[in-house]
Amino acid sequence: MPGVPGTPGRLAELEARDITAWFGTHKVLDRVSLTMPAGGITALIGPSGCGKSTFLRILNRMHELVPSAQLAGEVLLDGEDIYDPDKRLIDARRAIGMVFQKPNPFPAMSIRENVLAGLKLTGTRASRSARDELVESCLRKGGLWNEVKDRLDAPGGGLSGGQQQRLCIARSLAIKPRVLLMDEPCSALDPTSTRVIEETMKELADEVTIVIVTHNMQQAARVSTQCAFFLASQGTPGVIVEHGDTDAMFQNPQDPRTSDYVHGRF
Ligand code: ADP
Ligand code: MG
Repeated sequence: MPGVPGTPGRLAELEARDITAWFGTHKVLDRVSLTMPAGGITALIGPSGCGKSTFLRILNRMHELVPSAQLAGEVLLDGEDIYDPDKRLIDARRAIGMVFQKPNPFPAMSIRENVLAGLKLTGTRASRSARDELVESCLRKGGLWNEVKDRLDAPGGGLSGGQQQRLCIARSLAIKPRVLLMDEPCSALDPTSTRVIEETMKELADEVTIVIVTHNMQQAARVSTQCAFFLASQGTPGVIVEHGDTDAMFQNPQDPRTSDYVHGRF
């Protein structure tokens, strides 16, 4: 596909270099660098307000939607800067999908139309049979197929919260992203749906690099291969205090603040 950074179909590495971000004069991130390895699940953890969501949105240029937002630094997808002025916004968004905290399927659209919605936005054409195959494969990958295969024409808004979130994951997958960003995707869901989504994430890591923001330390420990601990102390902008393999971060944190946070002493 012309204009898409990196090689489509291959697992991609995402690297943030020296990201500093402001809303107006309020600096919210200060020189944050992080490599999110291909095929890994990177968990961004840390207290509220330390810039995790801002960082995540910067990773697919969603940050640009806020008029007061400013940015310094680079985001490299397989070595290519997604903010390069010669690159199109739509290509960055197509390569780097996003799932939000609150499930947001198009409620009046059918389940099938929801999955296919991204194709319309990106102007991708596909035959009827190719669309049917895509709907099935994305719903399978989203862990929802068995529950909805007999009612693909029912409205997305009629599903439970956990099912709606899995529909949103399926919708993101339909445009074949190389990276999937998830901002607290289970915070609004019950424990059963949460576990189903965690299993889905682990299976997806074979084909898409995942970055997840989570407040739930057990969830970070269960699903992620790597963790980054963000902190913004007393009005200072957010920084990454520590990052590394999840097991090491939980069992042998190097910074006392990480230890306090992962053990719930914050
Ligand atoms: P987290 O996800 O870690 O809770 P956020 O990235 O949402 O943190 O917020 C980091 C800081 O940026 C906070 O001080 C927040 O108030 C500020 N902020 C976030 N979004 C906006 C925005 N659209 N406009 C102005 N300030 C914002
Ligand atoms: Mg947030």
